[in-house]
Amino acid sequence: MSTPSPTPAKNMATSASETAKSSNFLRQIIETDIASGINSGRKWAGSPGDAAHQSAGALDPARIRTRFPPEPNGYLHIGHAKSICLNFGLAQEYGGVCHLRFDDTNPEKENQEFVNGIIDTVHWLGFDWNVNGTSHLYHASDYFDFMYRAAEYLISTGHAYVDEQSAEDMRINRGDFSRPGTDSAFRTRTPAENLARFREMRDARHLDGSMVLRAKVDMASPNINMRDPTIYRIRRAEHHNTGDKWCIYPMYAYAHPIEDALEQITHSICTLEFEDQRPWYDWLLERLIEGGLLMAPPPRQYEFARLNITYVITSKRKLAALVYDHKVQGWDDPRMPTLVGLRRRGYTPQSLRLLAERAGTSKAGGWTEYSTLEACLRETLEETAPRAMAVLDPIRLVITNWDEVMGLSATGDSKLDACSAPAHPHQPEMGRRSFSIGREVWIERGDFEETPPKGFFRLYPGNKVRLKYGHVIACTGCTKGADGRVESVQAELIPDTKSGTPGSDAIKVKGVITWVGVVDGKRAEVRLYDRLFNEPQPDSGGRDFLASLNPNSLRVVQAIVEPSLAQARPDDKFQFERHGYFVADRVDHSDARPVFNLSVGLKDTWGK
Ligand code: ATP
Ligand code: MG
Repeated sequence: MSTPSPTPAKNMATSASETAKSSNFLRQIIETDIASGINSGRKWAGSPGDAAHQSAGALDPARIRTRFPPEPNGYLHIGHAKSICLNFGLAQEYGGVCHLRFDDTNPEKENQEFVNGIIDTVHWLGFDWNVNGTSHLYHASDYFDFMYRAAEYLISTGHAYVDEQSAEDMRINRGDFSRPGTDSAFRTRTPAENLARFREMRDARHLDGSMVLRAKVDMASPNINMRDPTIYRIRRAEHHNTGDKWCIYPMYAYAHPIEDALEQITHSICTLEFEDQRPWYDWLLERLIEGGLLMAPPPRQYEFARLNITYVITSKRKLAALVYDHKVQGWDDPRMPTLVGLRRRGYTPQSLRLLAERAGTSKAGGWTEYSTLEACLRETLEETAPRAMAVLDPIRLVITNWDEVMGLSATGDSKLDACSAPAHPHQPEMGRRSFSIGREVWIERGDFEETPPKGFFRLYPGNKVRLKYGHVIACTGCTKGADGRVESVQAELIPDTKSGTPGSDAIKVKGVITWVGVVDGKRAEVRLYDRLFNEPQPDSGGRDFLASLNPNSLRVVQAIVEPSLAQARPDDKFQFERHGYFVADRVDHSDARPVFNLSVGLKDTWGK
């Protein structure tokens, strides 16, 4: 199990609300914008659209508009959770609306499975794009017609041209950081020539890759993104939304600012790698506003540092490699940092929202410790998860004087003694759980030592311990198999010591151990997960991340759990006392075959 964070759980309320109030540069920008009223004249016609459409609308009731724009080419991961919490969270805080936009302008990579997965995950995190009966779920591909029209406008005003240089020449002529670019020989074509050529591209009269449409900006700009970026390419590919209507597709850098503007986004929040794109973002929208195609004021782009977590990889491509190379059992393997994986591991939406807040939002990159992620989960489960006893590495404990002390039942069998415990130590309204102690109980193998090391307070011959919620017992010895391995432990019951009965604490013990009755215990498979990588930054510096895979990231044990867990439903979360937080596996758990996943260990106070 991984190292627990030192944050004491009882500080949760304070620390969680303190972080919730902490400001960040985006909150400051939004507050300044609201105060200055820069967006207060903005109109919204009820749906995305161009200047003609929006100007006929009423004043936008949303004070800000943000968006979460995933490309539906994979499952969302914990980095996306940061972006979701930020965009939806800021909209909530400031009386705004956040759009869920599928950035599906690339025809090859998208599919419906990913679209459905993303919808499900954003809902699960607790966010909704339905506001007052309007669904703000949009598809960038619905804007292809506008994007095409905008491209024709740029051509006709001399701001774009069709370039027929080879890809290689285009790369060389773009220059680099130390060398300005060189104009293409096609840069001086007239708008009429360019328009004719571009329409031929659209009409499938040219081969894929034979020419592109480029914006005419500045080949000598120190910012390489401004050196006549490509805005359309020829690609004969079926699109999941538009079918074979198009054989030319807009480039991301061209599509994205337009998508934001059509949706009247006020604050377009993205990760730092887009910082150098901002001048282009502004340039393009200025041209289209100047031409009357889009409404002013334009959206503004703001960049923040992406979320990095130690021992975790957040690149869709690398996560896909783990799945396809069978290093894990699928996108939702509980070791995966995908949101479907974390959910199956037992992560709650609250814990991920807490992490997003605690990781902070800034321009300075950095690493959030894996232990912070775990602490967030522990804190949200501490208050809500019912407790249960489970023995993960069981050996039998025989209470040899049980029948003598307790007497026999009418049928001559050993009696059972009913025990009960609160479902949660601080939440009496959660009720109580019941189980029985009898002549034989399961205990953890590690709770017995024939020859105790110094400071060991649990079972060893001659020592007394309490069976939690039960009686005090005195260990008398053990039985070993031919291989020398301990097979069972013997002890004697000390009469009148049952928890909760008068005088039960007359005998003081230093150790309390958990246990499960042999008669009413249930068998369960328990999957003990550990971090997937042994290196804190598995893929930094171009390193082969597969080399630091933790070979012990999954250990499966056959455990015995207390009878209250027979009612567990998939996704139910528990604290197994002394062990940590566990969740009934949402895929494999059933009444006939209970399966529990380790979500996160406890801060271990039982170590001695
Ligand atoms: P990946 O690199 O894993 O493929 P991506 O950025 O290409 O991720 P998109 O679907 O394009 O994935 O991302 C949707 C949104 O999520 C974008 O706005 C992106 O900036 C944001 N995002 C992705 N990864 C992170 C991260 N680690 N931290 C914060 N935001 C992120
Ligand atoms: Mg991307």
